[in-house]
Amino acid sequence: MGSTVPAQERVEEWTFLGTVDPTSNFSKLKRAVNSQKCIRAGGKHNDLDDVGKDSYHHTFFEMLGNWSFGDYFKEEAITMSWTLLTETFRLDPDRLYVTYFEGNPDVGLPPDTEARDYWLKVGVAEDHILTGDMKDNFWEMGDQGPCGPCSEIHYDRLGGGRNASSLVNQDDPNVLEIWNNVFIQYNREPDRSLKPLPNRHIDTGLGFERLVSILQDKPSNYDTDVFSPLFDRIKEITGARAYAGGFGDEDEGGVDTAYRVVADHVRLLTFAISDGGVPNNVGRGYVVRRVLRRGARYARRYFEVEIGSFFSKLVPTLVEQMGGMFPEIKSKAKEVMEILDEEEASFAKTLDRGEVMFGKMALKAENEGKGNLGGGDVWRLYDTYGFPVDLTKIMAEERGLSIDDGEVAEAQEKAREASKGEKKGKGEGLKLNVHDINALEKMEGVGKTDDSFKF
Ligand code: ATP
Ligand code: MG
Ligand code: MG
Ligand code: MG
Repeated sequence: MGSTVPAQERVEEWTFLGTVDPTSNFSKLKRAVNSQKCIRAGGKHNDLDDVGKDSYHHTFFEMLGNWSFGDYFKEEAITMSWTLLTETFRLDPDRLYVTYFEGNPDVGLPPDTEARDYWLKVGVAEDHILTGDMKDNFWEMGDQGPCGPCSEIHYDRLGGGRNASSLVNQDDPNVLEIWNNVFIQYNREPDRSLKPLPNRHIDTGLGFERLVSILQDKPSNYDTDVFSPLFDRIKEITGARAYAGGFGDEDEGGVDTAYRVVADHVRLLTFAISDGGVPNNVGRGYVVRRVLRRGARYARRYFEVEIGSFFSKLVPTLVEQMGGMFPEIKSKAKEVMEILDEEEASFAKTLDRGEVMFGKMALKAENEGKGNLGGGDVWRLYDTYGFPVDLTKIMAEERGLSIDDGEVAEAQEKAREASKGEKKGKGEGLKLNVHDINALEKMEGVGKTDDSFKF
């Protein structure tokens, strides 16, 4: 196929919209299955803040999918997913719950009773079929483009005859979403109206790490062999106590959280850099940078290791584990390790001083009886010491302080104004470079954001 193959998103879009070149091979493609490398650490889908703290959100994960391009639709998709889970994987139907779109009269969308009826037909018990709103059960990639109602499958890790329907979509560690079946039947037009598509399509996403945790009957994704080789290696390098595992509140010293964060982050870093991402201050590059900085600080704080060339030592383990399936991480391993070392070493230079400065700021806030760290302080840590806002938030949380996103945005705006004035008045260059400001704008809660992206 080589480099002439268009990016996967483009193929999906053309195929869904019916605009695919009829002479191309893709026009003949009616069905497909795949594993997509997904990154959700910025923009519309940003799970970064959950990572380490919950049992099933990662910044990088594999999304298994089956696709129909104008071929099979709801009935077949629902039947196939149910059969795979309950017959092939032999999951107990009593532990499974499904949802369908409840409809939205405000935008002229009917409830998806078709989906409900197919779930009933395959044998799902009525009290395991739930409705969901636009947020959970209507899938849209962005402001425009192919979209439609979706039906999700959730799993109760505990089971035992209970009915867990009230825990679905409630961030319960034991009741988790595993598979989203999206029924692509509309196109969101530039004027925001929904137009039926010429053909109807299926796009599903099944979280690989979540599936593994269920098939291996573990209490969390991190207790599976997706993560254990990395945990072993972390232990070996740092001399830390072993990962305790399970998923309770008793994470003595925060070490388990650090294991989860570091192992998660090295996966994102390795895959993103192998696919051409480089740490810098804009867009995707900033995702790589902030994830590395977040991870490096966790490693130093909880494993007490010296930062500078820590993450690169984990790369060979990941390559050994996943390089067969994803040869790009094998062929790019050396480059990935060099980039990681360079970036980590440069952060190591400011990390100490930044921590000292943070300590002073936090102490001052505490002495003044404040429960939060001021936006100006957060901005200063970002601007002077390269501390991503999400990292400062974690550090503040550790001391029981909060951060107001609005205040940070204000401080950013002030800095922007000041730098404009400075430039006008003295004819000097900008003190804050424009990339930093763009990067901050891209952070959640501070300004406009990108969508999640797949490398
Ligand atoms: P959740 O509600 O748990 O955040 P989601 O609704 O955002 O999941 P989808 O966009 O529907 O997820 O993605 C399809 C599937 O991908 C999910 O059902 C789940 O199995 C998996 N998935 C989504 N986000 C993550 C993540 N951050 N880490 C691991 N798996 C994920
Ligand atoms: Mg989500
Ligand atoms: Mg969901
Ligand atoms: Mg979902």
